Amino acid sequence: MESTSIEKTARFGTLAVHAGQKPDAATGAIMTPIFQTSTYVQEAPGVHKGHEYARVSNPTRTALEGNLATLEGAAQGIAFASGVGATDAIVKSLRPGDHIVSSNDLYGGTYRLFRQVYEPFGIASSFVDMTDLAAVEQALRPETKLMWIETPTNPLIRVVDIRRLSDLAHAHGIDVAVDNTFATPYLQQPLALGADLVVHSTTKYLGGHSDVIGGAVCTSHADWVEKLRFQIKSTGAVPGPMDCFLTLRGTKTLHLRMERHCANARRLADFLDAHPKVGSVYYPGLPGDPGHELARAQMRDFGGMISFTLTDDDMDKALAVLSGTRVFSLAESLGGVESLIGHPATMTHASIPREERLAAGLSDTLIRLSVGIEDIEDLIEDLDQALAGV
Ligand SMILES: *Cc1c(COP(=O)(O)O)cnc(C)c1O
Repeated sequence: MESTSIEKTARFGTLAVHAGQKPDAATGAIMTPIFQTSTYVQEAPGVHKGHEYARVSNPTRTALEGNLATLEGAAQGIAFASGVGATDAIVKSLRPGDHIVSSNDLYGGTYRLFRQVYEPFGIASSFVDMTDLAAVEQALRPETKLMWIETPTNPLIRVVDIRRLSDLAHAHGIDVAVDNTFATPYLQQPLALGADLVVHSTTKYLGGHSDVIGGAVCTSHADWVEKLRFQIKSTGAVPGPMDCFLTLRGTKTLHLRMERHCANARRLADFLDAHPKVGSVYYPGLPGDPGHELARAQMRDFGGMISFTLTDDDMDKALAVLSGTRVFSLAESLGGVESLIGHPATMTHASIPREERLAAGLSDTLIRLSVGIEDIEDLIEDLDQALAGV
């Protein structure tokens, strides 16, 4: 990545707005153009301006990759067509016989990819409680090649110690990937805590407006850059230039949006915690939360995701809350400006067998919130009326 003088000295918000981008050389356009092209004309065979074919590279994508790499403190960013595409490229870089150790509380699509796509190809995975270091150590095998961390976890919003797990992994020669989708680089920078790879679904907070699907991997390891560029060229899960443009527009306001997501979530978690019809509230910003101290050390703030249960473990009541909101929309996904309410057991985590969900602490009545950037009073009033209806 080219780095300008701004990128060496500026702070997060300035980098979010500017990193990876410069005015268009041909026109002066301040916004990176959407280079809607599949190929690039060469002056003579092999003599070109740095781009040959758009599966391999596209200037709009290059700008996004530079921006994401800078925000994560990485040497390189590699953009993918989706978060799952980014995860897939990492797993495909392993070999049959290799083993992955991962979390028992993680994105349902990652679980499905590891279990249903890669186990038949001979890449096995173990899913353990990653808040328990001894359990992780026990799950390591001689053939373990990758540790896959998500923190905060999905959907139980637990906090996992990136530094301690990275130390453990490296002592065994294992590379560490952190899915940083929930925290974003504004709240947490896994590479600085020892991880080797950071993975994003840019669909969520980085894009931030629920209008684009995308993914990325950021790393400073030259061997991983080479492997992932090889995957992009050879297996082709590339994002289109329009999608890169939208994501790049999203990252410019990441710091502002995250501040509001976090402030709203803190207020909402307090409201839920005090509500007589609410049972458990899972949010590391609550002082009594088991992840609170670690989150304070590892993150800048506590994020915008909350899960909770009702005092009555009753499916009909949970479904009534899920269908009873007016500002919160019932939908999968997260990280957009609008507030969403979801039901992990039937929506985002339906691909995980019920017994495994229950064993991991994910009850059928768990409700998950992606707290948006609306006015907090409207969000509280909305949940208040939805809870009053049960
Ligand atoms: C959404 C999500 C993914 C998958 O990303 P897509 O862009 O939907 O492919 C991976 N990890 C987490 C934590 C997610 O929330």
